[in-house]
Amino acid sequence: MSIKKVLIANRGEIAVRIARACQELGIKAVAIYSEADQYSLHVKKADEAHCISRDPLSGYLNPHHVVNLAVETGCDALHPGYGFLSENHELASVCRDRGIQFIGPAAEVIRSMGDKTEARTTAINSGVPVTPGSEGNLRDVEDAVVQANRIGYPVMLKATSGGGGRGIRRCDNDQEMRQNYERVISEATKAFGSAEVFLEKCIVNPRHIEVQILADRQGNAVHLYERDCSIQRRNQKLIELAPSPQLSEEQREYIGDLAVRVAKGCGYENAGTVEFLLDDTGDFYFMEMNTRVQVEHTISEAITGIDIVKAQIRIAAGEPLPVDQSQIRYRGFAAQFRINAEDPKNGFLPSFGRITRYYSAGGPGVRTDAAMYTGYEIPPYYDSMCAKLIVWAMTWQELLERSRRALNDMGIYGVKTTIPYYQQILQHPDFGAANFNTSFVENHPELLDYSTKSRPESIATAIAAAIAAQAGL
Ligand code: ADP
Ligand code: ADP
Ligand code: MG
Repeated sequence: MSIKKVLIANRGEIAVRIARACQELGIKAVAIYSEADQYSLHVKKADEAHCISRDPLSGYLNPHHVVNLAVETGCDALHPGYGFLSENHELASVCRDRGIQFIGPAAEVIRSMGDKTEARTTAINSGVPVTPGSEGNLRDVEDAVVQANRIGYPVMLKATSGGGGRGIRRCDNDQEMRQNYERVISEATKAFGSAEVFLEKCIVNPRHIEVQILADRQGNAVHLYERDCSIQRRNQKLIELAPSPQLSEEQREYIGDLAVRVAKGCGYENAGTVEFLLDDTGDFYFMEMNTRVQVEHTISEAITGIDIVKAQIRIAAGEPLPVDQSQIRYRGFAAQFRINAEDPKNGFLPSFGRITRYYSAGGPGVRTDAAMYTGYEIPPYYDSMCAKLIVWAMTWQELLERSRRALNDMGIYGVKTTIPYYQQILQHPDFGAANFNTSFVENHPELLDYSTKSRPESIATAIAAAIAAQAGL
């Protein structure tokens, strides 16, 4: 292994995840943190940690700053994680200029696939279907209205450099287009520093299906099958499944091939995700490519047995993929629940604060990726996701049962979380029958009608009560 020391340019659970991969490979890991993150778990999991900024965000967002630190601490590579600078092509090019191996694709590929209209062109040129849409970016609101009428309403108005489910609005007629146009532009300018927007035909009630790919420097590219991320709220994923319980084997094979075609078409290297929408008639449309490790990479690991973060590091070190497509099999079903510190009953309002008690779930087929512990205070400056619960089982039915059990095992006290809401989703017959699309959450507001008190007392609650009694709290 030519990589000996990695700077992790991220925080929270993904920084912990990367540090774990480094440990297994015998590589040193260097963490960075803001003052607000001094008690964060990722600081303790790394071999070295350096405070990079007094304010909560600037240190994680300055490419020159993080690469300087990588050079100063004797690192030979840098892992960007997800969010923050992970899709910032400047970080990859600064790394290249300073002799640090960036763990991800080339700067040019990040730039071109990060531009959603350019990515659509790449997909078209690779023979992969895309949704009907505007030709390139929109000139102004009049252009938007003309093109929307050509495409036919409903359409999606999208920020060209958008991400994280932001900068997207559905428009059903000219009036809504005129209302949303300035809003999306101002959202995009604030969040992504770019005012460019484009249009796509809105696929009504689609399934979100994405394919994990791995590509090495030698030109080999494979897929690790698909994930179904249709359980979303406001275009943000809540529960992810692998493989999709809604696809046939033929569809699975077809979409895997499409994803590999996109990866080869853009000269991709390292791990990436190709996202598609699946409509009611069974047609797939390329949506975008994420040129980084994804939050939900865990479930592809669960069904294939491949450690994606270790694969990323090996690829960056120049090693060829150790397997070809025919050697990659999947087994069983996996689900990931994004445990957010939010109150679902109060519009999913973030619920930051101190974790007074925390018990992770365990038992067969259960994995928890988290960056918290009893006594940890979740800072209000970052994403509200505080843990990921990953469940694997041999069959879909067993996955449902095991997920209920694991969510019940998990105990997080002091903040509100999405756990009880997920229990509600798991009880719904349509979810159980693997029949859902991206409107599921919106179409079932009744699932928010639960009472936390009437739920059976979990083991974790009982233990918490016992400890509190012993400590005389
Ligand atoms: P995934 O596609 O891996 O499921 P998400 O879309 O949930 O990831 O995004 C993961 C994290 O990265 C979130 O915190 C999200 O807000 C952030 N993020 C994703 N894309 C961008 C972007 N282009 N700019 C800023 N933040 C982003
Ligand atoms: P981001 O970069 O923020 O992840 P995406 O382009 O991947 O944005 O879209 C996020 C989500 O928005 C999708 O998972 C899907 O639910 C919805 N969406 C995006 N484009 C369309 C479309 N053309 N039709 C219907 N839904 C869409
Ligand atoms: Mg997306």
